[in-house]
Amino acid sequence: MRTLIQNAEIVTASDQFRGDLLFQDDKILSVGSNLGDATRDQTIDANGKYLLPGGLDVHCHLEMPFMGSVSKDDFTSGGKCAIAGGTTTVVDFCIPSKGGTLAQALEIWDAKSKPKAMCDYSYHMCIVDWNEGIRKELDLAFERGITSFKIFTAYKGALMISDEEIFDLMLEVRQRGGLVTAHAVNGDVLNILAARFAAEGKLSPHYHPLCQPPVAEGEATGRVLELGKMADQPAYIVHMTCKEAVVELARARKRGWESYGEVCAQHLMLDADLYDLPDFEGAKYVMSPPLRKAHDREALWGALANGIIQVVGTDHCTFDFKGQKDMGKDDFRKIPNGLNGLQERMPVVWTYGVNQKRISLQRLVETCCTNPAKMFGLYPTKGSLLPGSDADLVLWDTKQGYTISAKTHQSACDTNVYEGTRVEVTAHTVFIRGQKVYEAGKFLVEPGFGQYQKRPAGRPMKVDYSSLGNQTVGV
Ligand SMILES: [Zn+2]
Repeated sequence: MRTLIQNAEIVTASDQFRGDLLFQDDKILSVGSNLGDATRDQTIDANGKYLLPGGLDVHCHLEMPFMGSVSKDDFTSGGKCAIAGGTTTVVDFCIPSKGGTLAQALEIWDAKSKPKAMCDYSYHMCIVDWNEGIRKELDLAFERGITSFKIFTAYKGALMISDEEIFDLMLEVRQRGGLVTAHAVNGDVLNILAARFAAEGKLSPHYHPLCQPPVAEGEATGRVLELGKMADQPAYIVHMTCKEAVVELARARKRGWESYGEVCAQHLMLDADLYDLPDFEGAKYVMSPPLRKAHDREALWGALANGIIQVVGTDHCTFDFKGQKDMGKDDFRKIPNGLNGLQERMPVVWTYGVNQKRISLQRLVETCCTNPAKMFGLYPTKGSLLPGSDADLVLWDTKQGYTISAKTHQSACDTNVYEGTRVEVTAHTVFIRGQKVYEAGKFLVEPGFGQYQKRPAGRPMKVDYSSLGNQTVGV
């Protein structure tokens, strides 16, 4: 079956032009300005809609057990969020239980994803213990096509591993070819500050960000990048939130180290003042690292524009305000950490990044679609409009905006942290591997449609060659 999409405003990481795209079954055949003579079975007149590759969100947590609860969106509702927001592939975090094996964790994650997935998906593997058993099991992960490993420098006694263990892991991953990613905040500092606030009875959400000051994030970011340099192993910092972290990444890249960074939509958009909302409403915004201040957001937008940061993610991990977040009503340390973003990421970055001239539309495609695929071994199957790539396509309507609300979102959660925010674009029609999965608000496939994406070993594909070593922090 051949389909021709005509008269689209085609946007890739490098180009924008009025043109046509032809795909056959699940793969793109050709892209150009005049494919009207092509043999085909059906024609779609895109009528000036914007045609972008499907987005990849490489940071989300679906049906994740955390802090005595389970995150609200699973691979079905979370997948619906993704698709309705122009994202066609998600990379979730497979998290072994403390003392458990990677094999056990994979079994649990497969059971959650396979029958429920709406869009394509893959996993990162979290390394929360480091011992000879896990070292051996890295081979299993690579065989399964899992080539990225996440470590935590925070959450002592739960997820955190030591510098010694991180460094040893980096050497092992280097041998096999993959990426080490890090949640980088100084965990010792966080623990001491949190305990001191608690001892003084300071237990409202206001104190959540104060336990993880920007310096504690900058310190851990720099430390992980230096460990990566010493191990000759690329490192990628997830959800960077502040100027201090950006400065460390810029410095590492200026020195020519293979260092990468990700920012999540909420850290570009939302302010730490939200923690002070009355009636415990600040709990809705509790995530780690926390929301920051205006000058941090400016640093993040600048770093996204000038190539210091390569990827926009979401850390989508939703918890209901009633029944989940309120577990921490008397103690912010017990509020399940996490918030939404899968559906909002691309419309928000388009509206507040592209339309407000902070980044170009090409840069949006690069950081939301192409670079995530390059970083994590899915390029050019995903994240591009090249002939031979999967026909993961999104037709965006730029004349049709909407106001974000928990009343209308696809998430199963009772809260949306962007409530009332106006966006100026809508994902109208979405194809995954050539199959139309969504049109005008309606889903056209069933749970289980999404396919697991095996990722090959190898170093992440280099991005931003031209600007590497030539970057300055924007503020
Ligand atoms: Zn996360």
